[in-house]
Amino acid sequence: DLSPLRRALISVSDKTGLVELGQKLAARGVELLSTGGSAKTLRDAGLDVRDVADVTGFPEMMDGRVKTLHPKVHGGLLALRDNKGHVAAMEEHGIGNIDLLVVNLYPFEETVAKGADYDTCIENIDIGGPAMIRAAAKNHGFVTTVVDVEDYDALIAELDANDGQTTYAFRQRLAQIAYARTGAYDAAVSTWMAGALGEDAPRRRAFAGTIKQTLRYGENPHQNAAFYTDGSERPGVATAAQHQGKELSYNNINDTDAAFELVAEFDPAESAACAIIKHANPCGVAKGATLTEAYKNAFDCDRTSAFGGIVALNGELNGETAEAITEIFTEVVIAPSATDEAKAIFAKKKNLRLLTTGALPNVRDKGLTVRQVAGGLLVQDKDTGFISMDDLKVVTKVAPTDEQMRDLLFAWKVAKHVKSNAIVYVKDQATVGVGAGQMSRLDSALIAAKKAERMAEAMGLPAPLTKGSAVASDAFFPFADGLLEAAAAGASCVIQPGGSMRDNEVIAAADEAGLAMVFTGMRHFRH
Ligand code: 5GP
Repeated sequence: DLSPLRRALISVSDKTGLVELGQKLAARGVELLSTGGSAKTLRDAGLDVRDVADVTGFPEMMDGRVKTLHPKVHGGLLALRDNKGHVAAMEEHGIGNIDLLVVNLYPFEETVAKGADYDTCIENIDIGGPAMIRAAAKNHGFVTTVVDVEDYDALIAELDANDGQTTYAFRQRLAQIAYARTGAYDAAVSTWMAGALGEDAPRRRAFAGTIKQTLRYGENPHQNAAFYTDGSERPGVATAAQHQGKELSYNNINDTDAAFELVAEFDPAESAACAIIKHANPCGVAKGATLTEAYKNAFDCDRTSAFGGIVALNGELNGETAEAITEIFTEVVIAPSATDEAKAIFAKKKNLRLLTTGALPNVRDKGLTVRQVAGGLLVQDKDTGFISMDDLKVVTKVAPTDEQMRDLLFAWKVAKHVKSNAIVYVKDQATVGVGAGQMSRLDSALIAAKKAERMAEAMGLPAPLTKGSAVASDAFFPFADGLLEAAAAGASCVIQPGGSMRDNEVIAAADEAGLAMVFTGMRHFRH
């Protein structure tokens, strides 16, 4: 058991709630030590404050780079109160205990997010703050460390409940939060520097995120989960504004991300586009003269799976498209923006979530993908691979027509976003069959064709839309069987990386079936 808190050191960049906290501490007879700006705010509110400079005997210097880095501060934070040697050292050097540390750091992440120049970002790397936080948190046997404005209330409640003291359990929890903060802070600095170095960045990174929200549960109800942001301002699910509907779930966030990253492949200046996602795979992607047409064409690819799906649009959601979307149950709609009319239409569907992002992300922006394996992380560059017409090599006797070429490139873009093995049939700039996540390419081709057959029956069409379609395969056909299946489904042209030992067999089969085939020389595995 400790005696009540006597001295607090307060040094905060974010002054939110500072005065109220200072008042409550002062009312408990806690002496307040503080640095320049924080001291001024407290003093202006009529509180008694002692400057840290007065304690250390050194003025704050070097534009604030050195304010609190002094044994009188760090000794007061680190000394073990029950260690005779430590107590003697404190007496000898005139060091007083600091029982409570309240620090929030220079806003480095916000400075980067605002697009500040290099030197400004560097100046916003807090040095003394993290040093004090780490010191106080290490000494949580005796010292309470608060690094978040949102923990002020809990601190006061703790003091109220414990005669002006904190419990060990409370200090230990706050210490854990403190190291999460300093860890994330330095990770943010490292990530920013890697960005500044670009291609030259060493492949050594620190990974951390800032918690955005704790989720109700994870992929399944018995799994706890949380959503962390990496501080980048990329338009997308992490930075979107939610206009209505209940909180997004873990699976919603994952699927919404997949949907928006896919639709962002399609330049709105060229055409409206829509992607519908289920379980992180597209069940319909289409371009259209209007967003409504794009939505309807995407929907027609697989109406069964689209139920309860996630819809992403590459342009402003308007009233007409909103009406079309509300005809079936949809979980989430994400778009760069939405008109008031569209919002009013959605307002009638309480369970539908609407997210707007302000813009589309640039799909060619470099970044990392991280995945966890037992005992480690697998980190790689994002797949920003891009194929244009000039990269394609025609390998068959017949070459694709211009129209086929457009559908092939469309199918290729979609295939990049389908879990491997991916087979994607496209007709007139809309998917008409998607085979995802199978362990054999042949099965993906079969399943996609089967779905197209079922849709044709449901829509009363004379033949499945795969007839005369373009087909994409995310990796090479190891055998001719998958290709022959696509041909049997009616595909007239094929896009695939090539590079199989049996390319010759596959090309011969394509020629025999009268198909046009192009090689990309690049694959798009996605597991
Ligand atoms: P104030 O507004 O009170 O002048 O400054 C508060 C900020 O200064 C806090 O964010 C705190 O982390 C930071 N800080 C405190 N001591 C030092 C130090 O010695 N060096 C640097 N660079 N920052 C410090």
